[in-house]
Amino acid sequence: MAAEGTSAIREAARAIASRGNCVALTGAGISVESGVPAFRGAQGLWDRYDPMEYATIGAFRKDPGKVWRMLAEMIEILGRAAPNPAHRAIAELESLGLLRSVITQNVDGLHQAAGSRGVVEFHGSARELVCLFCPNRYPTREKVLEGIPPRCGCGAILKPDIIFFGEQIPRAAMETAESEAEAAAVLVVVGTSAEVTPACGIPLLARRQGALIVEINPEETVLTRSISDAHLRESAGTALPKILAEIRKSTGAPPAAPG
Ligand code: NAD
Ligand code: ZN
Repeated sequence: MAAEGTSAIREAARAIASRGNCVALTGAGISVESGVPAFRGAQGLWDRYDPMEYATIGAFRKDPGKVWRMLAEMIEILGRAAPNPAHRAIAELESLGLLRSVITQNVDGLHQAAGSRGVVEFHGSARELVCLFCPNRYPTREKVLEGIPPRCGCGAILKPDIIFFGEQIPRAAMETAESEAEAAAVLVVVGTSAEVTPACGIPLLARRQGALIVEINPEETVLTRSISDAHLRESAGTALPKILAEIRKSTGAPPAAPG
């Protein structure tokens, strides 16, 4: 059974500092404190748009104009979002040489905005729009200013470069995620319900190669009582800075500059 509570913060910090080779697997929950609603337990956007109705490639192909009503709102929310202390703590662990990569299911770009460099975007990114009929790509922000739904030079309605339900994970992202999971000595699983396949296979892969699984989530998930070694039952923006502070205390690294 998973360890819980405040001593779990210290144990997680000790494991990351002593083992190194930490990999983070993040989901929508890490961006909730940045104002981006997650699918599960969400209010707002996903109350009005059922992801299973709006976030499938079948729905997009059938009626892209309808799906763009949801996408326009999502893109506006992402445009206002800034990294929170959880994104920043992950970037800091990387710069301390303790974290090798972040595999994120998020499409919001907030890890990169926080300074993370080794980011595997498992479900693509909302940064660009792609055409399903020709090779054209466009920067999202500029293109949506021309009108919704945005259109390609060839006339087709564009799609954000994110992986909809029913689409394949890009091969490079899949391969890098798998090799990072296999190389992980500690896998920190943050803010994911671990219910979306194939991303939910990553913790299993890491576990099979001997990684310690540390879960950060205010709720229990399918991982909590199966493979998590520790469950920090707190928000990401609370737990990750605490882990970082604990590591700095134990290694004598100077505290981060405020802000
Ligand atoms: P999910 O919506 O299925 O689950 C979110 C999880 O985060 C839940 O288990 C919830 O308990 C937890 N959570 C909520 N607030 C949290 C907090 N402050 N700190 C830590 N955990 C918190 O998310 P998922 O598993 O990532 O699957 C949804 C899919 O939709 C993924 O592909 C996801 O990336 C995508 N999505 C992305 C965004 C984004 O880019 N920010 C937003 C919504 C959905
Ligand atoms: Zn086109």
